[in-house]
Amino acid sequence: MRSPPTIVIAGAGVVGLAVAALLATGRCADRLRVLVLEARPLPRFNPAEVDPRVYALSRASQRLLERVGVWPHIVSQRASAYRRMRVWEGEDAFAPSALDFDAADIGEADLGHIVEDNLLRTALAERLAVAANVEINVGAGVAAVRVEPGHVAVDLGNGGSIRGTVLLAADGGDSAVRKLLDLPVAEHVYGQTAVVTHVTSTASHRETAWQRFLPGGPLALLPLDDGRSSVVWSLPTADAERLLAASDAEFLAELAVASSSVLGDLTACTRRVGFPLKALHALRYAAPRAALVGDAAHTVHPLAGQGMNLGLLDADCVAAVLEDAVLAGEDPGDLKVLRRYERQRKGANLAMLTAFDALNRLFRLPATVAPLRALGLRAVDSAHPVKRLLMQHALGLRSGTESRSRWSRADSQA
Ligand SMILES: Cc1cc2nc3c(=O)[nH]c(=O)nc-3n(C[C@H](O)[C@H](O)[C@H](O)COP(=O)(O)OP(=O)(O)OC[C@H]3O[C@@H](n4cnc5c(N)ncnc54)[C@H](O)[C@@H]3O)c2cc1C
Repeated sequence: MRSPPTIVIAGAGVVGLAVAALLATGRCADRLRVLVLEARPLPRFNPAEVDPRVYALSRASQRLLERVGVWPHIVSQRASAYRRMRVWEGEDAFAPSALDFDAADIGEADLGHIVEDNLLRTALAERLAVAANVEINVGAGVAAVRVEPGHVAVDLGNGGSIRGTVLLAADGGDSAVRKLLDLPVAEHVYGQTAVVTHVTSTASHRETAWQRFLPGGPLALLPLDDGRSSVVWSLPTADAERLLAASDAEFLAELAVASSSVLGDLTACTRRVGFPLKALHALRYAAPRAALVGDAAHTVHPLAGQGMNLGLLDADCVAAVLEDAVLAGEDPGDLKVLRRYERQRKGANLAMLTAFDALNRLFRLPATVAPLRALGLRAVDSAHPVKRLLMQHALGLRSGTESRSRWSRADSQA
C-alpha cells in the first residue's frame, strides 16, 4: 500500500500550527500525514503573566480557530474583546477629525479580540497532540532543502533528515526556507522599530483600541482583559532605542503625552521589547513541492494589526487547496496545485500590504499636509457606507482586491 502524502510545515508559529490543525481536523485527516518542524522550544501559556506579544484577531481568524476546536479554550483562558476603535492624528483624541468605529454600527458584538501569542500556540499545540496524523518535531530547524523527483528532502539543523510530499514555509519574516528555495522578495526596511509593552492606567480603556498617527509612526493601545493596555508604538529606530533604554517613569511620561492621555495617568509598564519593522512581499508564493505562508510570504507594518490575520487566511486557503488536490487524486506537491493557493492569496495580501504601507507614508508626511489628512479622516467618519466597508475589511468579513504599486511592479518584473 502507498504511504499517504506528507505535508511538512517549517515553523510552529501560529500560522504553521494553524495549517497543521486545519489538516488534522479537515476533510483528509485520514489521508494525509503532517509533520511540523520547529527550531525553538514551544512557548507555554502562563496564566499569571500576559505575553508581551498579543494580536488583534479578526472575526475571520476567530472563525478559523472555532473550526479547529480551540476558540472556546482560548476564550476561557484569556481573550479581550474590543468593541470600539478610535483613530486620531492631532493632540485631541476627540476632535471632530477623529475616526470612531463601533461594532454596533455593523451589527456585531465586537470588532475582534486581543489574544496572546503563547496562548494561541499552546491551544493549537494541545489540539495537535491528540491528532492521529500530526507530529511536531521541536529543535528541528530546517537547514537545507532539495527538491527531488516525487518528493522534497529536508535536512535538519539537529543532523536528522526527512522526506515530504510538500514543504510549507511558515518560518516567519526572515524565512530560512524561502531563502533556501531561492524565492525572491520585494522588501522595504522602514527605519522604524515598534516598542511593545503593557501599561497600567488610572482611566479605563473602555474596551476600545486607540490609535494615534504621530509624525514618527503610529501608536496603538489595545485593551487587555485585566484592565491594562498593550502598547505598540512605532517610532524612528533611534527614538525607539532611546525609549527602550529610558527609565519606566520617563517612558510612561512620554507615552502619556503621545497618547493624548486617553488612558489618564500611566502608572506602570512591563518589560519593553523592540521589533524592527519592514515590509516584505515574496514575488512568488509557490515553487515545485513548496509554498510560503504567513510572514514568510508577506510581512506588513503592524499599524493595522493585520499580519497574523492575513497569515491565518493563507493557512485556511493552502489547507483547502491541498485537501482538494488529495480528494481529486492529484499530487499535492505539483506546482500547478500550489499555484492555485498563490493565485487566491497573493493579490489579496498585496492589496493589504500596499494599503498599510501607503497609510504609514501618508501619516509621516510633513505637518503642512495635516489639514488634508484631517479632511480625509472626517470624510471617512461621516461617509457611513465607506466606514462600514472599512470595518468589514478589518474584521476579515470581506477580502482585498488587486492593486497597482511598487510592490506589484516588482512582481511583474519577476
Ligand atoms: C509589534 C508587532 C505587533 C503586531 N500586532 C499584530 C496584531 O495585532 N494582529 C495581527 O494580526 N498581527 C500582528 N502582528 C504581525 C504578526 O506578529 C505576524 O504576522 C505573525 O506573528 C506571523 O506569524 P507566522 O507564524 O507566520 O511567523 P512567526 O510568528 O514569526 O513564527 C515563525 C516560526 O518559525 C520558526 N522558525 C524560524 N526559522 C525556522 C527554521 N529554519 N526551521 C524551523 N522553524 C523555524 C520560529 O521559531 C517561529 O516559531 C504584529 C507584528 C509586530 C512586529
